[in-house]
Amino acid sequence: MSGPRKLHVKSFGCQMNVYDSHRMADTLAPEGFVETDVPDEADLVILNTCHIREKAAEKVYSELGRVRQLKEAAANEGRRLMVAVAGCVAQAEGSEILRRAPVVDLVVGPQSYHRLPGLLARAGSERVLDTEFPVEDKFDFLAAPGREQIRARGVSAFVTVQEGCDRFCSFCVVPYTRGAEISRPVEKIVAEVERLADAGVREVTLIGQNVNAYHGEGPDVRPWTLAALLHRLARVAGIARLRYTTSHPRDMDESLIAAHRDLGCLMPYLHLPLQSGSDRILAAMNRRHTRADYLDLVARVRAARPDLALSSDFIVGFPGETEEDFRATIGIVEDVGYAGAFSFKYSPRPGTPAAAMEQVSEDVKAQRLRRLQAVIDRRQAHFNAACVGKTVDVLLEKRGRRHGQLVGRSPYLQPVQVIAPASLIGAIVPVTITEAGTNSLFGDLAPSMRVGETRAAAARPLATAGA
Ligand code: SAM
Ligand code: SF4
Repeated sequence: MSGPRKLHVKSFGCQMNVYDSHRMADTLAPEGFVETDVPDEADLVILNTCHIREKAAEKVYSELGRVRQLKEAAANEGRRLMVAVAGCVAQAEGSEILRRAPVVDLVVGPQSYHRLPGLLARAGSERVLDTEFPVEDKFDFLAAPGREQIRARGVSAFVTVQEGCDRFCSFCVVPYTRGAEISRPVEKIVAEVERLADAGVREVTLIGQNVNAYHGEGPDVRPWTLAALLHRLARVAGIARLRYTTSHPRDMDESLIAAHRDLGCLMPYLHLPLQSGSDRILAAMNRRHTRADYLDLVARVRAARPDLALSSDFIVGFPGETEEDFRATIGIVEDVGYAGAFSFKYSPRPGTPAAAMEQVSEDVKAQRLRRLQAVIDRRQAHFNAACVGKTVDVLLEKRGRRHGQLVGRSPYLQPVQVIAPASLIGAIVPVTITEAGTNSLFGDLAPSMRVGETRAAAARPLATAGA
């Protein structure tokens, strides 16, 4: 008798894809698929792709070269390996993928994941493409994970609350690949978070391409803000930490700023992409805010939560960016003092307005990226070094590389390595930081935690559900 079929999902790009990959696996579990980390033993490989920059999209085709070898090896063993391409490249380049990569059996866009079982059945006899934006809500049909699956994925989880985007920044493909913005209803999100908490999840990050534009229907049949949703989720037993990402500066309303003041469980770390420090470039990007608006917003959020740290995204070499524009970006990075930031060379995306504008040369982009990253790295090192000697609350997530070591996250998302018993996984413990590396911190359990610690004692919730 044959055993369960094995599924290997490889995720590229953003956290939304990580979440989607889990939900695809959950939806295929009732069909008899179990997940495997080992691609060689898979009966189905799903590549969950990213289209945000050209480099990310090209990765898919090189990965498909490797998958072709796996498919041949499986065929030599008398097995059929099915290959599916999902995600934003699937949405944007569906038929091109089928043309360029004969190894692919199925192409499925992000709005059709709930149809996977039926699509796979069809893909057994013909090559299938589904990149529709169906009328039904996929979230109503995607299967929920079981307790064991939730546990295996760890104590920190993502939950998609909003998808798509109506902002149309001139460089960005998201409005085209993910479609118009939709927000999930409050009660469905609450039920999902309760389910996660019940299986041991302590931290939830609410995700969406423009998460603070959230306006899902509440139990009172009115649209709720992200702040109202956060207040509701802060009351879910067991959830000690809440985060949300990614936000547009224009959608940070007063209620959300106040939530940073009122909700102790809302972590004091805000990812607030700016993209450029030049007003001229911000206008060309269609960001609809100025540098001064952004600085004013930062001041207001910091006033609400003085220990708040910020991170951001920046694009260098956007069409028409001069040295002066670029220096304005460097200047604002210094002024804001980010704890970290992502920076990218502008990548023209087919069909977006900026792709048709006058381009900056690759050399200039590369040189500006190096200069910007040096400033960001120095700032990050400074932020991390300032943690040394302080005691911070760390959510312990998993075993570290060294024997006896656990890895967790500080409120500022810094990975923290600490010697601690595995029984403390899932606990939030005070850790005194002794050393700051480039990407992680090292520390010691605070003295009260070292002797006779139990998971129950350590798991005291940090949540102070505000108003
Ligand atoms: N919604 C978020 C916002 O408003 O900033 C951004 C989401 S996007 C998935 C993540 C980041 O990718 C963006 O903040 C931007 O810095 C970068 N990005 C998007 N399109 C890009 C492009 N064409 N070239 C380079 N970087 C890009
Ligand atoms: Fe893309 Fe974000 Fe702009 Fe939406 S708000 S178009 S996701 S960069």
